[in-house]
Amino acid sequence: MTNTTETKHLNKSVNYFQPEFSHIYIEEEALKWDRTEEALSSFPNAERIPITDYKQIFNRPNQNIFSQHNSKKLILAVKKDPFLYRGSDILQDTQYQNIYYTTPLINCVYHCDYCFLHGMYPSANLVAFVNDSDFYNAVDEGIMGRNFKSEPLLLSIAYNNDLLAFENKVSYCKNWIEYAKNKNNLLIEIRTKCANVNSIKEITSNPNILFAWTLTPNEIRRKYEQFTPSLEKRLDALEIIISKGWKVRICVDPVLYVNDWESIYNNLFDKLFSRIKHEQISDMVIGVFRMNKNYFNRIRAQKPNSELYYQNWGQSDNIIESSESVKSVMYDKIEEMINKYIPLEKVYFWKNAS
Ligand code: SF4
Repeated sequence: MTNTTETKHLNKSVNYFQPEFSHIYIEEEALKWDRTEEALSSFPNAERIPITDYKQIFNRPNQNIFSQHNSKKLILAVKKDPFLYRGSDILQDTQYQNIYYTTPLINCVYHCDYCFLHGMYPSANLVAFVNDSDFYNAVDEGIMGRNFKSEPLLLSIAYNNDLLAFENKVSYCKNWIEYAKNKNNLLIEIRTKCANVNSIKEITSNPNILFAWTLTPNEIRRKYEQFTPSLEKRLDALEIIISKGWKVRICVDPVLYVNDWESIYNNLFDKLFSRIKHEQISDMVIGVFRMNKNYFNRIRAQKPNSELYYQNWGQSDNIIESSESVKSVMYDKIEEMINKYIPLEKVYFWKNAS
């Protein structure tokens, strides 16, 4: 080996991974759906590999999802039942009782250290389901069969992904918005950290869609979120969406109990409310870090050097979270920080899993 070659191999900045989405796995059955054509046209140079069932690739044993994040692949598949899942204890919404989520896309283009998806799935690859109309039929049935008839079905379509961040590749949001526009008793939540709203900003707003923007202080983003846009860029996007008349929810979730957390989050709220008035948003949700215990332990085992996963966390039932005392201090302080900007009746704090 020459010196030059040695230097190259020692240079940590050299990327030995294949480019992201260099390969696309396609279920045979997925070839019949228009969505497949759209996804393939977004990655014209990707190598196409036919498969019979996405689980052959996605559920392979011994995958290292943290290394896969350097070179994610795309899998195009046809979703089978079930299409709707009951909102979990961790999926936060205190206002509605018919809470469900669905998974048009599994996994996310971002890579936040605190993300439960790393413990939930065996792979970091993205699975894009292509059979939209089957999803819509299931939602129609869900609306009809919902338990609390005086309330809409609240459906999160971005619980296991950041759908808007993938919109420039596959136009899921646009199509869900179109589907929802004339429905009664449906409210679709699209949660995102994305800053690129070009793909949706020309769509006429409708009240059946709730965009939920998660905001993160830059200090936290730099340390715990890989690839997400800056706070300033998210606020720019938020202003555009609000100006177009969409319903918007602000999420500050998770709030992390780091050194100097008070000044870091105080600064976030000052920046937010210097640009957006509370009258322009539907509500705000705030939550501490929390994660299903099994997912937490799975991630912890793979990240022996993680400061986040080796802190002293509390535990209630099956959930790892901040201890009750820390949570109570944090929420009291946050109330003090925000009550000059927003009536507290418009703010929902995630309390516990019960
Ligand atoms: S943006 Fe959300 S879904 Fe995506 S990695 Fe971060 S926490 Fe997970």
